[in-house]
Order: sequence, then structure tokens, then C-alpha cells
Amino acid sequence: TERQTERATDAAVELAAWQRPLRAQFPIIAGNPELAYLDSAATAQKPEAVLDAVRAYLTTANANAARGAYPWANATTDLVERVRERVKAFLGDPAPAASAVHFTGGTTEGLRTVARDWLTGHLRDGDEIVVPFADHRANLDPWLEARDLLARQGVRIAVRELPYQDSSGDYDYAALAAAVGPRTRFVAATHVHHVYGVDMNIDRLRRAVGPEPVICLDAAQSVGHLPVDVAALDVDFVAFSGHKALALPGTGAVWARQARGAPFTPGGWSGTPNTAGIASLEAALDWLEDAGPDRVRRWCTALTARLTDALRALDSYEVLGCRLSLAADSAVQHRVGLVAFRHRAISSGDLGFILFSRGFMVRTDSHCQAGAAESDGSVRVSVHVYNTVEEIDALAAALAELD
Ligand code: PLP
Repeated sequence: TERQTERATDAAVELAAWQRPLRAQFPIIAGNPELAYLDSAATAQKPEAVLDAVRAYLTTANANAARGAYPWANATTDLVERVRERVKAFLGDPAPAASAVHFTGGTTEGLRTVARDWLTGHLRDGDEIVVPFADHRANLDPWLEARDLLARQGVRIAVRELPYQDSSGDYDYAALAAAVGPRTRFVAATHVHHVYGVDMNIDRLRRAVGPEPVICLDAAQSVGHLPVDVAALDVDFVAFSGHKALALPGTGAVWARQARGAPFTPGGWSGTPNTAGIASLEAALDWLEDAGPDRVRRWCTALTARLTDALRALDSYEVLGCRLSLAADSAVQHRVGLVAFRHRAISSGDLGFILFSRGFMVRTDSHCQAGAAESDGSVRVSVHVYNTVEEIDALAAALAELD
């Protein structure tokens, strides 16, 4: 544990000069020095560049997309098409001509779109799907709804649970490999768990299921926090929330490999897209690329490792989820951006209230985790590039006072 703290501290020291000017670019953060925003897993704050891009779009080119023959309409159409390509590049898409990006209001809508437009159209009687039962509800409900819809049409599909390891908070890839059969058509997984913070081994997941099943990744907690490379991960759908990646509320996208029969026609239009949101997404992805997604990952990992170590040294707290191996650097590498914990005597709601009285804004309750009883809540602390070592240390000191 000492070694992890040391490593985390090294990363924080090394990156401090890089991080300081970045923090200054977030007006809501810079304007509220007495508050610590520690709920970025719910939604992230926005840098000046994102706010500027929205204002620039709305004051120079606001119009509907693909509907007019005048410059503002054309500029808006160009924007939407350009940002589709921007999303592909940001996700490391090696074959952008063979993929599609569909804009959504967030990950929930993205996963629901995959369920409604792909799953219900591609499964046959007797097919099987494997889905997570203890991740975000947004990554379970759409698949169950699709199963029920298919059943009403006389198509029965089996839903199997994506198995978890007890010890690490990661999926159990060996058990998964044993559970996959010739009728397994689809696997839904989460990239970074929204309560445990675990960065799942998605490349191992692909090896476990083989090349045939379609893999749909809930990347709500990874896009914006770490490099996401669809080629390395070898997945078929990626849903993420723009608003958790520094873009405006009500933004997000699904990336889809066309070879898998992606339902989203590139350049296809229906309804009016959230063009100001799409402009904000472009600026957010540019900003993150400039900042360096790997440095963002190392910064967020260093802060959460520091808090996790501080919590482990206190008797009254239980860190949720993964009993991570303390060997080597696995804990530092493995938990990205968030940590959830409980106090043995204080309810998480009360703890959240006490923490806010000291200026710390954290999430409490069961965090929309599938299968988690509402009474079984926790406090979740989640960070982004604007958070600091000082905030984490002040929070750790406040938690120590309650030990
Ligand atoms: N999936 C995970 C893992 C999440 O953490 C969240 C965020 O709350 C969601 C899905 C839902 O995202 P959104 O609220 O943007 O639809």
C-alpha cells in the first residue's frame, strides 16, 4: 500500500505542472475555490473552450442540419458530419469508412438504440446473449426489454449473466469462455465500472468469447478518462456520454462497426440533432486530445489511488467492490477515476451531507447499479482532470475525523 501511495504521489508530482493550467480553464471550478467537485462520474464540468465553441456555433451558424441551402444550414450539416469523423478518430477507429456514429443524449440512449435497432433485428429463436447483472442499469434494462419484445414476436432468446470474479471486481473471463456457446450472438460489457472503478480487461473478454459474438461496450466511465481504442479492444459497439467527457449535458454517441450490420446509416438524418451539443462534443474531444488522454488517465488514477489508500488506513470505512491485489502496481493501474465506500456506522446519505457541509460534493445512494438494493448505498468520489491532490488530502482528513 505504501508503494502504491508512493507511485501515485510520483505520478501526481510529475503531472502537477501539466495539471495546474488545465484546472484554471474550468470556470465553475476556478470560480468556487471553497468547493471540491467530486462527482464527475455523474457528469463532468466544462472547460472554457467547450463553452466558447457552443457560443461560437450559436452566434455564427445556428440552423437545422441537412435541411437548408443557405450557409448556416450547410455549416451545421458540415459540423455534424465532421464530428462523426472526430468521434471515430478519438476512438482510434482504424476503418472509419466502415463504421458509423449515431449521436445520442448519453450512454443510456445509446445502449437502448443498440437494443432496439440492432438486437431485436438480428437475433433468432434460440439465440443467447450475455449481459452484466451488477453494472449500471442502463446496461441491463435495454437487453431485458429487447428479450421481452422478441418474446412477444415469438422469438425466444436466453439471457445469461456475464460472470464476475469475487476477488478483483473484474469479469471472470475463464467462466465466460466456458459459458459461451455456438448460439451466443451478443455480449454487453462495461469498460470502467461505475461503482468499483475497475478498468475491465476487454481484450481478454474478446479472447474469451471468440470472434463471432458482437460485443457492445458501455464506455460511460472510460471515454474522457482514458484512451479508448476500438481496434485494440476489438468491440463492435461503443456507447458513451459526451457530458461525462466535458461536453454539454444531453450529449453522447454510439460508435458501430458497419460490418456487424450497424443500424445507423452514415449521413442518415431523422429529426433535429442537438447541434450545439455536437459542437460542444467536438471542442471537448479536441481539448482532451490536447491534454493527452493517457495523462488524464494517470492523473485520475493517481488521485483515486491516493484516496483508496487513505481509506484503507482507516478502520471505519469499507471500500466497495474489488479486493484488488496489492501486488506490484495492479491497484494503481486498475482503478480509474472513482472509488466508492461505506462508513460502518454512518449512513451514506448522512456521510454525503456531512461532507457537503465541508465543501465536498460527492454522490450517495446505489448509483443506479443493477441489483443493488436502495438501502445498500455508498458514497462515491469521482474525479476528473480539474481535481487536485489537495482536495483529495482534505477529503481524506475529513473522513479521518469521522473514523
Ligand atoms: N453506464 C455507466 C457505466 C454509467 O456510469 C452511466 C452514468 O451514469 C450510464 C451508463 C448512463 O449514462 P447517461 O446518464 O449519460 O445516459
